[in-house]
Formats: sequence, structure tokens, C-alpha cells
Amino acid sequence: MSSGYYLGFDVGGTKITAVLASREGKIKKRIEAKTRKLKGVTDLINQIHTLGEQFDNFDDIGVIFPAPISSKGISLFAPNLMGWNEVNVKERLERAFQRDVFVDNDATAQAISVKLFDKGRKYGNFIYLVVGTGIGGGIFIDNKIYRGGNGYAGELGHTVILTNGPVCGCGRRGCIESLASGRAMARRATENSKEIRNSPFLSSIPLERLSAEDLFSGREMGDPFCTLLVDESIYYLSVAIANYINEFDPEAIFLGGGLMKNDPSLISELKESVENESGKYSRNVPIIKVADRTVELAPIALSVYESTNHTPD
Ligand SMILES: [Zn+2]
Repeated sequence: MSSGYYLGFDVGGTKITAVLASREGKIKKRIEAKTRKLKGVTDLINQIHTLGEQFDNFDDIGVIFPAPISSKGISLFAPNLMGWNEVNVKERLERAFQRDVFVDNDATAQAISVKLFDKGRKYGNFIYLVVGTGIGGGIFIDNKIYRGGNGYAGELGHTVILTNGPVCGCGRRGCIESLASGRAMARRATENSKEIRNSPFLSSIPLERLSAEDLFSGREMGDPFCTLLVDESIYYLSVAIANYINEFDPEAIFLGGGLMKNDPSLISELKESVENESGKYSRNVPIIKVADRTVELAPIALSVYESTNHTPD
């Protein structure tokens, strides 16, 4: 008999969050643990399964990873997890749990959560972009998540916008992730040691601890170098978003991720920059920040979406 509850795991590079929630997205129980990422696949699968033993009475399980996952449930590679190249994650988890398990890329599942539990309900066609340590995304077309031929679609962070730009984690140059992600912003700052020494705000922060958040704070306080770096990142993001708008004609752009929390005026600045960048194709597409809860509910959204045959209420 159906309980109406779902179990979800968000397996990140630093922590695993397990959540039990109703199909309407009401969270009943939540557990966090540090990811055991250095001992390989079997150990991490065991950790997920052991965490799962603290929950009962649920209909389905969804597990999401910071990795491209094929439609067969195979992880292509996972830069933040040891030994996860070409692993059939779905099969391994189903063996551990002795039942069906839905697996997916974390940003793809977050896009599904925008559709099921956030303002995405109102839109059949939208783009979701998550800007955090890295940049990921998801694409909704005609009320369905677009997965492409093998399940890897939506890698919006690997859109090249500077062909001679910095080398990206994917091996190409000038991807938006290599320019405007949190990690990229911190790197671009630390590469300019002279500007850092001259910056009244940044010179007091140890280089190895400098983060994108510091750049946003510095910009708020009027630091010229921080302002330059943040403004450049907003510009790079707007170039990428203008590309997505031209390619997919979305009704809305949704933004998630840690970096979007820092500055309430960021969304309106970004929108203005996207309009400027769109040229004659400018069409006033709304840019909407997603709720933190939407990101937390991503693995729940995945299992609800997959088990109810893709038809949200
Ligand atoms: Zn890339």
C-alpha cells in the first residue's frame, strides 16, 4: 500500500543529506552525514544504504550525484568522488537496497524539483541554472525534463563563451563554469596577487581561504577589484543565459545555488545584462531565484517524477 512518502539522498562531495518527504514536498525527517568519498564506490554505497536503514515506510527512493549519469544509471565521471568513473550506480544501489532506485545528476533533479515544488509549476518550458562551486543545469521542454540521447543533456555549465578562456574541469577552454562559478571566481581573484595586495578588503584574507562570497562582500563595500570580478561574472553569466534563451525560447529562467544568495540585487542586474546581451532577440524572459527548499527536495522530486510517470499534479 502506498505511504505517500519518498526517500531521497543528495550525495555531495562533502556531505550526504537524506530526506523523507511526502509527494507534496513536506519534509518529515532529515539526516546529514559527511560523505565517505575516499574509500571507493562500495564503501559509499554501503554508507548510503546504512543511512537509509534509519527510515521506513516510503514508496520510492531517489539518489542524486554531482556527476553526469546516463539514462541506464551509469556515472560517466565524478570529479568530487573517488573511483566513480563508468560505475553503474543504479545497479549497485538497487542491489544494496533490494528494490528499484532512481538515480540522476543533481542539477537535473533540481530542475525537476523546480517543476514539482516551485514556481516551475506554471511553466512548460524553462531553463534551470545552478551557480555554486560549479555550474549545472536542467531543461524542461513541453512539461518534461529533456535528457537527450543518453541522459546527459543539460550540462549548461559547459557552454563555451570564451574560446581562449581558462581551462575547464571538462577539458575545454572558456566554459561558463570556468569563468563564473564560485570556484572560478576565487581562482580569478587569487591569480591577481598584485590587485589583492592593493585591495583594502581582500588584502586581510589569507589567499587559500578566499572565496567568491568574499568577492561579493567586497563589492558591497565598494572595493574596486571585487566589483570588477563580480561584474565580469554577471556579464559572463548573462552571455550564457542569452544563448540559452535563443536556443530554447524558455518562458522563464530559474536560478539556484549558493552564489545566488549573496546579493539580492543580483537577479535584477543579471536580467538587465541579459536584455542588453540579447540584441534583437530581446524578449523579457523572467529570471527567478528558486527557494532553498527546492534544492533540498531534488531527490524527492526525482522519485516522485519518475514513479508517477512524469505527470506532476
Ligand atoms: Zn567545461
